[in-house]
Amino acid sequence: MQKEELKSKIIEYGKKLSQKNMSPATSGNISARFEDKILITASGTCLSELSFDDIVLIDENANVVEGNKKPSSEKNLHIAIYQIRPDINAIVHCHSPYISAFAVCRIPLSKPIISENVFYFGEIPVADYALPGSNKLVENTAKYFEKHNAVLLANHGIIIGGTDLKNAYYLTETAETYAQIYLNSLLLGGPKELSKKEIEEIYKLRNS
Ligand code: 13P
Ligand code: ZN
Repeated sequence: MQKEELKSKIIEYGKKLSQKNMSPATSGNISARFEDKILITASGTCLSELSFDDIVLIDENANVVEGNKKPSSEKNLHIAIYQIRPDINAIVHCHSPYISAFAVCRIPLSKPIISENVFYFGEIPVADYALPGSNKLVENTAKYFEKHNAVLLANHGIIIGGTDLKNAYYLTETAETYAQIYLNSLLLGGPKELSKKEIEEIYKLRNS
């Protein structure tokens, strides 16, 4: 995909995140791999109102290679995830309200209650709290991507990696819906968990 086409996809999925109330105000950021570099949203931008100028190209050391704006404060976390996972080509970080409710309670999204989520995520663990944008946040969080595609950031939000921007966005919507259903189910007396056998059957579908 060409650079401008990738930028327009970032703009498109930024709008979609906002339409679903998953990126209030200027929270969150989006990135995509472009050749050996990364396109990432500028710091302080509202994801519903991104323009081409709000997306900057950075290298693996977080230097701005193209663009006039400051890259996202979470750039080092995005870079670390791309380094760990060559199969991840796009990343969404957001403070969507239902997911973030679990993040502030430091409760992982790991109950096997919806087959779709078991299929796509297995479990979504919680990384220890660290200041947003800090190296400590990178240290606490990136390591989970060795085994997971999404990680809750304690008292903050979530970061999700996908094969492309569409996939990363769909995974975000899937996780947010799971968190909403999980929370609602607690009001109804608590969810019934899938059995080990039922979970194994779902895992088998991944390889079919
Ligand atoms: P940026 O605007 O710098 O990307 O920061 C938003 C955010 O969510 C920080 O965690
Ligand atoms: Zn954030």
